[in-house]
Amino acid sequence: MNIVIIGCGFGGVEVASKLSELRKRSKDLDISMIDRRTRLEYQAAHPEILSGKVTPEEISGDLNKFAAKINAEFINEAVVNIDFEAKMVKTKEEREIPYDFLVFSIGAEQTFFGIPGAEERSYSVNTLKGAIETKNALDKLDYSKKIRIAVIGAGLTGVEVAGELVDYFKDKKASAKIYLVELMPRVLPAFPTENVATYVSKFLSDRSVEILTGTAVQEVNEHEITFTGGTELSYDVIIWTAGIKQNSLLENLELPKEKGWLKVDPYLRVDGMKDVFAVGDTAYFENEGVRAGQNVEEAGRQGKLAAENIIRTMKGKKLKRYRAKNTIQNPRAFISLGNDKAAMYFGGMMFKVFAYLVKKFVERRYMKRFR
Ligand SMILES: Cc1cc2nc3c(=O)[nH]c(=O)nc-3n(C[C@H](O)[C@H](O)[C@H](O)COP(=O)(O)OP(=O)(O)OC[C@H]3O[C@@H](n4cnc5c(N)ncnc54)[C@H](O)[C@@H]3O)c2cc1C
Repeated sequence: MNIVIIGCGFGGVEVASKLSELRKRSKDLDISMIDRRTRLEYQAAHPEILSGKVTPEEISGDLNKFAAKINAEFINEAVVNIDFEAKMVKTKEEREIPYDFLVFSIGAEQTFFGIPGAEERSYSVNTLKGAIETKNALDKLDYSKKIRIAVIGAGLTGVEVAGELVDYFKDKKASAKIYLVELMPRVLPAFPTENVATYVSKFLSDRSVEILTGTAVQEVNEHEITFTGGTELSYDVIIWTAGIKQNSLLENLELPKEKGWLKVDPYLRVDGMKDVFAVGDTAYFENEGVRAGQNVEEAGRQGKLAAENIIRTMKGKKLKRYRAKNTIQNPRAFISLGNDKAAMYFGGMMFKVFAYLVKKFVERRYMKRFR
């Protein structure tokens, strides 16, 4: 049996790990891990690349080495198509990889919502490469004049980036104005209660970040951002932290989708398919009106269960139902704010003491599996 995992981020790595563990009892099982990158990226730490608190090596892990450790094959290629009839994965490099079971764990991509000029003129921290390029752009600025940085989108990543920028410019002893722009009426709009937004807004404002809520970007020109209503903001660097969209691989695949994401059944199989699973950001899982969030915790938990259900299918056993924990309706997260401070949001409540230390502990413990 060949199990092929497309995408080796938080979800894919967990599928492979769990399969390898369960395989001890079923030896005739090959695991192929495919990724267009060579390293797993710990995206939650990307904002800290800007302030130099972490290095790219510390927050990314060698997938080849990881695969070797768990006795899986790692294929560093980009998947461009899948023939579900022939059960064959096709890569850009024109390789064809047969599968008995397939797992989609291809994550999400950044979206610029088609706003003119946004993609061409913005930096991003969604990928490690993007975070390094953003840091390089900051390093090249002319510090003899007042610098203006616009962070677009005040979700989790946006507030973290703003916090790290404050630390970056403090270290440089440079004068910079940081704007945090948000379409919705408050920062962290995906968090259902206001406590965390109020705390984070005050924390960042006290560190001189200017927060512009209820502000929509209409167009990005060479030197200015135009907001709806015609107001303009001149900038030196834009960092785009607003919104994700489905992986473009899904566009040409005729699969059941919900809002563009891959719709999965209660067992994490792509709806209507018995041999194709989907986990992590790319999957749309909903149970009794509660939708799984797109976060590290869900990707990992889904990865483990998908692996178990693959083995159960092979053995003709009853499959296990998935229960989401970190949901859209009730999210939980660490939010780092710069200056070695963070807030932990859990069950609608916020905890500040030791939150940054706990966040860093979780990150280091996770990355240990790649050492
Ligand atoms: C900047 C940033 C900060 C974040 N902060 C947090 C946080 O603090 N807490 C939290 O819980 N979540 C956070 N998230 C979200 C979290 O990173 C994702 O939910 C998580 O990575 C999802 O895991 P995944 O396995 O679905 O996708 P990913 O981890 O993104 O992995 C997808 C993999 O698929 C590969 N891939 C994609 N397409 C192809 C293809 N065609 N062929 C081959 N390989 C392919 C990619 O190269 C990638 O390695 C953050 C995300 C970002 C971008």
